[in-house]
Amino acid sequence: MAYDFDLYVIGAGSGGVRAARFAAGFGAKVAVAESRYLGGTCVNVGCVPKKLLVYGAHFAEDFEQASGFGWSLDEAQFDWATLIANKDHEINRLNGIYRNLLVNSGVTLHEGHAKIVDPHQVEINGERFTARNILIATGGWPQIPEIPGHEHAISSNQAFFLKELPKRVLVVGGGYIAVEFAGIFHGLGAQTTLLYRGELFLRGFDGSVRKHLQEELTKRGMNLQFNADIERIDKQADGSLKVTLKDGRKLEADCVFYATGRRPMLDNLGLENTGVKLDKKGFVEVDELYQTAEPSILALGDVIGRVQLTPVALAEGMAVARRLFKPEQYRAVDYKMIPTAVFSLPNIGTVGLTEEEAREAGHEVQIFESRFRPMKLTLTECQERTLMKLVVDAKTDKVLGCHMVGPDAGEIVQGLAIALKAGATKRDFDETIGVHPTAAEEFVTMRTPVAG
Ligand code: FAD
Ligand code: NDP
Repeated sequence: MAYDFDLYVIGAGSGGVRAARFAAGFGAKVAVAESRYLGGTCVNVGCVPKKLLVYGAHFAEDFEQASGFGWSLDEAQFDWATLIANKDHEINRLNGIYRNLLVNSGVTLHEGHAKIVDPHQVEINGERFTARNILIATGGWPQIPEIPGHEHAISSNQAFFLKELPKRVLVVGGGYIAVEFAGIFHGLGAQTTLLYRGELFLRGFDGSVRKHLQEELTKRGMNLQFNADIERIDKQADGSLKVTLKDGRKLEADCVFYATGRRPMLDNLGLENTGVKLDKKGFVEVDELYQTAEPSILALGDVIGRVQLTPVALAEGMAVARRLFKPEQYRAVDYKMIPTAVFSLPNIGTVGLTEEEAREAGHEVQIFESRFRPMKLTLTECQERTLMKLVVDAKTDKVLGCHMVGPDAGEIVQGLAIALKAGATKRDFDETIGVHPTAAEEFVTMRTPVAG
């Protein structure tokens, strides 16, 4: 049978655009549907605008520290509306770039909500198109628990478009988004409380990293409330929010921001017309080739709920395009050693195993750890400290994990990720000449293990 398209991609986000462009480049006839915004979550309400806001928030520290270097400034003023308008302008520019990327690579763009009507057919804007393969790349959506008054809370989707910077913000959650946005609001001058239901935020990150960040945020005056959860939110006559915690305490805020994870975006997608199966958490179930239970339908990115990071969605998009249209170039995505950064203030950068994971996996470990005051701060009053940590296998000398909390941790860890992927040993680290004077050189000068 002749199909309208070889591949019909639903969702022009990180993974969908990558798969569509590469498939078209390999000679396939490709269409991509997008209902909301070109570039998806990352470009519109994720990585990019988030990082711009983090940069914005970081200026507070720069101004504070500048006097130690002889600069005197009038009291700094911040205008939220300007930051948001400039951010929006940049995102519009990026949307245009994504449009050109798609069109120039020969992909047909359909703007509207796509629904699968049968395993080889998609409906969009009242028209139907057939395709040999359909790729579900519809991403995720913030998930807010349905407590009484949850309608008064916002998620990251709204946070990027607030008309004003709230005076008092309560951020709920202990993952990437909660920690990053708490840093943004706090840095920009809002009175910020981070509320997390567990003992210590950032579950799954190295214990030293979690503790260090807790100390640093506390030093900066952020109110951290652990072992705390919200029972209800009530809107008061003056528009402010009264928040009742499960332990009976009451807090007041102007904005309650939930960052409690993301669900797969499957709304009105028509999966009931297919044999696609979902896993226990509701994400689309795929095999190692991104194949769903329906032979003609594939899925990737956040909607499969593996690793919800843009570079992972990109790698999966590339893998799918190659597998379908350039099988001789197919390489499986390697999910080990994925580096990641949390753009909290200070940043976290990490790659490889945490100390806890290494021990649990049965490694005999050596731990190297360094905490120091960054050189830039020696002329200032700031008491911030940087943490660097290496987890090493004592038997093989292989470096199993690198972890950092401090300025530019994400930038530094990218290079270390290459070393770890190449199988670097601690001896390789030791024999690498440092770049002086940098913070990064500490990673090649840690000599004495702090724990074995
Ligand atoms: P998405 O990028 O979400 O794209 C899915 C697209 O499908 C969307 O554009 C959506 O509108 C469209 N769509 C959905 N349903 C339909 C339909 N039926 N018809 C047509 N179109 C449809 N990752 C990082 O690596 N680094 C970061 O710093 C980072 N920061 C983040 C900050 C925030 C606040 C958030 C929310 C996420 C962040 N992420 C970050 C995660 C990253 O954004 C995602 O992992 C990535 O965007 C997933 O790509 P995707 O292609 O799977 O889905
Ligand atoms: P995460 O899964 O990272 O964190 C969710 C947090 O919410 C956890 O601390 C979790 O607690 C808590 N939580 C979950 N359900 C509830 C509930 N019902 N009540 C109270 N707390 C709850 O999700 P995020 O929303 O922060 O981010 C989604 C994903 O997006 C991230 O996992 C990451 O993959 C990606 N992302 C990446 C970024 C980056 O690369 N810098 C930045 C932002 C997002 P517990 O730990 O106890 O389960």
